[in-house]
Parts: sequence; C-alpha cells; structure tokens
Amino acid sequence: MLQSRHQFSPPSDNWCQVHFADSEVKVARASKQYIYDDLGNEYLDCVSSSAHVGHCHPHVVAASQTQMQKLWTTQGFLNDTYSLYMKKLMDVLPETLSVVYLVNSGSEANDLALRLGRLHSKREDVAIFESSYHGNISSLVDISSKSFKRLPQGKKDFVHVIPLPKCERIEDNIPENEQANQEKFCEDAKKVIEQAKKNGRPIGVLMSEIVISAAGLVVPPLGYYKALYHMIRDQGGICIADEVQTSLGRIGGEFWAFQGYGVVPDILTFGKSIGNGFPIAAVVTSRDIANSLPEYMNTYGGNPLACAIGKAVLEVMDNEKLMFSAKMVGKALLEGLRGLMKKHPSIGDVRGMGLCVGVEIVCGRPDMKPATNLANRILYLLKEEKVIVATQGEERNVIAMTPPLCFTLDNARRVVDAFDKAFTKANTNEESEPVRSNTSVLGLDNIPLNVMGGGEEIDPSSPAKKKRNIEDMD
Ligand code: PMP
Repeated sequence: MLQSRHQFSPPSDNWCQVHFADSEVKVARASKQYIYDDLGNEYLDCVSSSAHVGHCHPHVVAASQTQMQKLWTTQGFLNDTYSLYMKKLMDVLPETLSVVYLVNSGSEANDLALRLGRLHSKREDVAIFESSYHGNISSLVDISSKSFKRLPQGKKDFVHVIPLPKCERIEDNIPENEQANQEKFCEDAKKVIEQAKKNGRPIGVLMSEIVISAAGLVVPPLGYYKALYHMIRDQGGICIADEVQTSLGRIGGEFWAFQGYGVVPDILTFGKSIGNGFPIAAVVTSRDIANSLPEYMNTYGGNPLACAIGKAVLEVMDNEKLMFSAKMVGKALLEGLRGLMKKHPSIGDVRGMGLCVGVEIVCGRPDMKPATNLANRILYLLKEEKVIVATQGEERNVIAMTPPLCFTLDNARRVVDAFDKAFTKANTNEESEPVRSNTSVLGLDNIPLNVMGGGEEIDPSSPAKKKRNIEDMD
C-alpha cells in the first residue's frame, strides 16, 4: 500500500507524505470525530479541520446525494441551490463583504484575493507574516515564507515579511504585558511598512491569517489587527484575511476569527470547513473591490453540488450549535492542557482559540528552545493512545489540534489524559508501539530524552531528525 503510494506520487514534499510514515494508518472509514483503520481500531481525529461538522455527516451526505441525482452542472446556468446557499452565507457575513466568488480550493481563493488586492491597490507589493503559508499555487508560494524559504529563489523583492506577533518567552505572554506586547508587535510591523515605502515599494496588499495556524497557532493580542489594518490602509493598502483554517466557528463563539479582533478585512478567503472535505472555497469582498477585476471564469466553482454541500454544512452548524460548542469544549481542552504544564516542563506553551489549539514542545522553560524530536515522539505516543494530532510551526515543535467541531468534553478529557501519558512515557523512556513496517519507530533509539529544563536536542542532520510525519497541515 505504502509502496504504491510512493511509486505513483511525486518526489516533492508534502502530498506524498503519509501521516505516521513509520507506522502508517490505513483509514477504512470515518464518522463524526473518529477515524477507523483497516484493523477496526478507532482513533480520535484531532487534525481533520476540513471534516468541520464531522466526518460523513448524514445531513451533508444526504444533501450531496440528493443534489447529485438532480443536477450536477458546471457554472453558467441559473439554479436555486446557488441562490439558497448565497442567502445563507450572506446571513453570516458583515454587510460590506457582499460579493462572493466560489472556487475549489483555499489556494485558488488566495490567488484570486491577491489578484483583486493588487488590482485595486494598483500595487504589486505584499506584506505577509513570518512562517506564513497561503497555498500551493506559484503566486502563493512567492508570498508564503514557509515555502519560499525552501526554494532556491528565496524571497522576492515585492515581498515584505512582518515578524510574528508572538513573545519569545512564554513568561512575557501574560495579561499584564498585553498592551506592551501589542505595542512592540505593532512597532515591528510599522518598521516593515515604512521601510517598504522608503525603498519605493509601498505595500499594496497585506495577506495574513488572523490566528496564524501555519506558524504554530500564534494568537496575536486583541488590539493588534485594528492597529495593523489601520497602518496598511492608511498608506493605501488592502487587507486580506486568509481564514482557510479558521472560518465557520472554529475559533469558537464567533463565525470568523477577524470578528474576535473587531476588524473587517477588505477581502476574506475561506475553504476547508465550508465543504466538510468536499473541495469548495470562497473569496468574499466589497462591490467596489470586485469592480477592479474585469473578468473571472471558473468551470467548477459554485457548481450545484458544491452549493448543496456548502448550504448543508451551514445548516448543521446552526442545528447543532457547533460554534458555541467549539468555544466551550475548546476552553476545557485549553485549560486541561495548561494544567499539565507544571508536571511536564517540556510543554512550553498551550495556546489557541476555540477548537484551534496548539501545544508548544520545548527543551525547557524559560528558554523555549524548540524540541522538534520530542514533539515527533509525542505524536507517535499519542497515536498509541489512539489520538491523532499533527505538528506545526517553523520548527515543527507545536502539536496542533483542529478537530471536527462535534468534538465533545469527553473527547477533550481523553486528549488531556493521552498527553499526560505520552509525556510521562517520553520522560521515562518507555518503548513505543511496534510498527507495521520493518523500520524502527522514528529511529527513536537515537533520541536522548534530556528534554527537561534546558536539555539539548540531537544533531539536526541525524536520521531521526530527517524522518517526517504528520506535519505542516498546510
Ligand atoms: N491558507 C491556509 C492558511 C492554509 O492552511 C491552506 C491549506 N492548509 C491554504 C491556504 C491552501 O488551501 P488548499 O490546500 O485548499 O489549497
């Protein structure tokens, strides 16, 4: 199975990577927040953000089956499903965001948003965050610092990188410091914006996530975006919010992450969640900005099947009150995991909003040196507990959880327990599970477990470091 995957997949990163490369999970089916392997094992799925309202939700499945039997055309015809979906979508969007382009992937959405932003601002230059990821299309590889760093051409001149609005030391990230932190982060951004202007390359577009998932779930201070958006707009730029990861109630309590920050972007993109795994994404903007683009064609975007599924997802969100559930369950998960920090000093930070939670694994506090190998080991130890998570961030030392929103309080307790067991095992150097393939689990024998209180990690060029698993959910 794994062999055929390797045989037919391209040599480049990511797509051909299999989750848990050394003891892969062959998924036979999935339901709600659970996935089942071919041996009948049930895993708690904490990573499938695109199964937003739950894997194979019966309402979504029924809507898609009914629509497929009725009408399944490409764009260009009128149909009721589209109108009904648009009406539902408008109900959850701010008034200014009134024009919708339906597309097929987050990358397509961000590419179009970028085009709109550049046309409207009449500028080429783009500001992004450090460690950002916005998609797999060439235009987005250019503005995703995580991607262009790996390529020979590196950063292009029209790209301006804003430092992450994140404290270096967890000790500084306390409520009393919030104002000072925010001022520092805004000052960092201001320097980048002003320098670009000085160099004759004023910024036309800010493309950013709001809760920055690609960088390991960075949650900026609450006043940050008001100041940042003001700075960008003040010098003639357009603000794009990439909510491919965070839309539709994922951050709990609010439908969109930008609402939590009291701003409205000029252009909003979202994907993943809206199709519950079916490829749908969207760009939403004002009529004024949309008028800047003279022509747009998309064969499959907004086809009746996509609209039927999108509408069904919004109905489930409403019927099952998933946004509020995400808030409550997310809070319990966050608090439970924070409760482990004292017992396990290698948990450097636990952060997030709603069901978007990250656990930063470090060599010890207060230094917060990334413990990439330990994070990887925890990933496998959690798998032994039948809990599936992913690693994120530049150093892949942040365990990220973005489960389906039907995640329950019981599930949250189970995750906290599993983390506790995993860290305890990692620190007592217990053996991991035997693997399916005949390779050793992650080459873990090579990993020194001196990760407490400022320990050192192994040489990054060692084979253990090179092994990569479920990571970079981008
Ligand atoms: N933006 C963000 C923040 C993402 O996380 C991703 C993918 N994970 C994308 C854009 C690209 O979306 P897609 O893979 O659907 O093209």
